[in-house]
This record gives sequence, C-alpha cells and structure tokens, in this order.
Amino acid sequence: MSQQHNLRIETLLIHGGTEPGPAGATNVPIVQASAFAYEAAEDLEDVFRGRRAGQIYTRLNNPTTESLERRLALLEGGIAAVATASGMAAISTAVLTILRAGDELLSSSSLFGGTYSLFRDTLSNYGIVTKFIDPTDTALLEQAVSERTRLIFIETIGNPKMDVPDISAIATIAREAGVPLMVDATVTSPYLARGRDLGADIVIHSTSKFINGTGSVIGGAIVDAGTFDWNSPKFPHFEQFVKKYRQFAFSARLRKLMHKDLGACPAPMNSFLLTEGIETLALRMDRHCENALKLATFLNSHPKVKWVNYPGLADSPFHDVATRQYGGKYGGLLTFGLPGKEEAFRLINGLRIAKNLANIGDAKTLVIHPASTICCDYSADQQRLLGVSDELVRVSVGLEHSDDIIGDFADALNSL
Ligand SMILES: *Cc1c(COP(=O)(O)O)cnc(C)c1O
Repeated sequence: MSQQHNLRIETLLIHGGTEPGPAGATNVPIVQASAFAYEAAEDLEDVFRGRRAGQIYTRLNNPTTESLERRLALLEGGIAAVATASGMAAISTAVLTILRAGDELLSSSSLFGGTYSLFRDTLSNYGIVTKFIDPTDTALLEQAVSERTRLIFIETIGNPKMDVPDISAIATIAREAGVPLMVDATVTSPYLARGRDLGADIVIHSTSKFINGTGSVIGGAIVDAGTFDWNSPKFPHFEQFVKKYRQFAFSARLRKLMHKDLGACPAPMNSFLLTEGIETLALRMDRHCENALKLATFLNSHPKVKWVNYPGLADSPFHDVATRQYGGKYGGLLTFGLPGKEEAFRLINGLRIAKNLANIGDAKTLVIHPASTICCDYSADQQRLLGVSDELVRVSVGLEHSDDIIGDFADALNSL
C-alpha cells in the first residue's frame, strides 16, 4: 500500500487498496458471509486479541468492506478508514468515539439537516452540548472555543447553504485549542481536495452521494488522517488506545469500541457497489462541476431567478476561498431563489428531466424544495440558521448533456 501513496488520484480511484481476487478476478469479490472460521481455537484467540490480522464477524470487519476502506484511506491521505452503513452512521459513530457527557462540540451552523438534528436533539439528550457557529466567521468560531470544547465539526461546502469555510484557518483554531477538526467532505468528495491537505484530522463521507454516483447505495465512511495527537489530558478515555496503538489511537477506539457497539456496518454487497462506483469519480466530478457552472451561469442571468448560490460564480462571496481550496472546481450542488414556495413548486412540477427527490450526487439531475421536505420539521429560525427558506430550490446537477439540463430549467422557468 505504501508505494501507492505517490500515485495520482485518477489511478488510486481504480487501483487503490485492491488485492488480487480469486481466479484472477480484478473486481473485488463480494464476501457475503456473516462470520469467518479458523481451524484452531488458538488462531481465533489471536485474531480477537489483535495478535494477528484476520476477519471475525461482518459487523466488525469484512474483506469486501476492507478493500473499500483501504481505497478511501489512500484517497484522503489518511492512515485508516472505517466504512459504515450510512453517512449519518459515520457521523454519529465518529463523534461518539470522541465525545462524552459534559463535553462541548463546536459545530458549523451550516449543516446537512440530519447532522443538525443529531447534534441539537440527540446528542444533547446524552449531555453533549453543541454550539452552532457560522463557519465563515473564523473570529467568532475562535471566541466560541471553551475549556470544554473537544471537537470542531464543519462541512467543506455547506449543504444546502453553499457557504465555504476557510478550512486551514479553522484547522489552526482547532490545533491551538488542542482538539481535532472533523470535516464532512461529502459535497466535494476526495476528488476536489484531500481531507488531510485541507487540515482535517478526521474526514467524513456520505458515500451514498458522489462516491456511489448512481443513487443505488446508502453508505458512509470515516477516514483518520492520523494527524491528531490523542495523548492529551483532554482525552483521558484515549489513554489505553494511545499506549497500545499510538498514531492509530482514534481508529482503534473507533473500530474496536464505538463501531462495534453501535453496529452500523455496511452490507458487503454495498461495499462492492461503492468500490465499483468510486472508480469513475474523477470523470464524473469533472462533468458535475462543468454542468453545475453552466446551469448556475444560466440561472444567474434569468429574470425570474432572484439569486443563485454557487461558489463557482465569480460574484459568490465564497468564490476565492473555494478556488484556493478546491483547485478551481466547485462541485455539483447549487441553490437558487424564486419569489416563493408557490413558484418553487410550479418550477419543480414543470421539470421533465430533473427528478424531485431527497438525494444529491446522482448521475441524474435532482431537485428539491428543502423547506417543505428535508427541513420541514424545523422552525423558521432553525431553517434560517441552515440557510433554508421558502424561496430556495436545491439542485444536484447530474451528468446529462448540459444543453438538456439548461433546456429543462428554461422551459420550467418560462411557464412560471
Ligand atoms: C447525505 C449527507 C449526509 C448523510 O448521509 P446519509 O448517507 O444520507 O446518511 C451527511 N452529510 C452530508 C453533507 C450529506 O449530504
């Protein structure tokens, strides 16, 4: 694996972490098994005690899933990865590996709805307090660090707010506070930037989105960049893991404790589909980014569109920071404003190609009115915090011909 580190991402997406399959198979085998047998009792004991590598039980590890994990770790420049049953499973498992009752989580206020609800409602029931701060206001974020802060959490591009935090500035705040920085990189994928290069100590993906690429699998992943020193009085619960696993303390506590206990493991079939899907990520992301920029430019000059949020537009307040962080590519997600909910619904009903559904990162163009769907349970204040309003429409721009995508929106807008 080590000699693969200097390969380019296009090559790693296809060859990273793979080992030869049976009978010369080049695709990863689907090991659809719950548990793995050993001849001798001594051997199984050795695997359980970590004296030798091996599979035990698919909730803990599985060869198909491990192949995906090795590839994701390489892509992010990390030392280890754990794949999970969903993106939310990745976030909850990763966060609970670090935080305990009484700890404080400093989170971006610009979050995916499920993450917001996990932090605000669920974690607070277990004594973990979350402070939500605008991640683009780094001075405010720095002031919000307290004695009890144990983790900073942000998204690479806020979904659906489309704001872009200065990640290296936030990484500096985290380092000075002596706490890890966890970055949800779902919207940018490993292709626009490696989490470790951005300054993330832990990278999260909902692999359901761009990594899968076809809207066929729900999955998640946690990648340990290996950059955070867990040997700290702030993390006494890591002490035994630091002693035994050193740099791998986080991944060991994650896999041996929280992932095992919460049990949100992926099905081997899903790990296989994700390993296949990720092979074309570079090609797909380039096309997503091109098509999104074209659609954003079209919408930005349309008289019926009030505003467009896409960091690829030169007039976006996040254009410069996004250009610096993501190498001149801005992802496949954009939002735009119409006069109100009625127009948003009429637009969605008038689209023929774009599908109205709650997902992003599919080959198909997807559209949704978040205020009445994914954020329908939130108050007006909470929606405002997440950057959602009645006038907002979110588009995940797909891989169709850009003229057809633009034509679809042009027709639907003209009939408003
Ligand atoms: C979809 C998404 C999640 C949650 O992932 P699931 O696979 O749906 O559980 C988390 N973060 C972001 C940014 C997402 O878009």
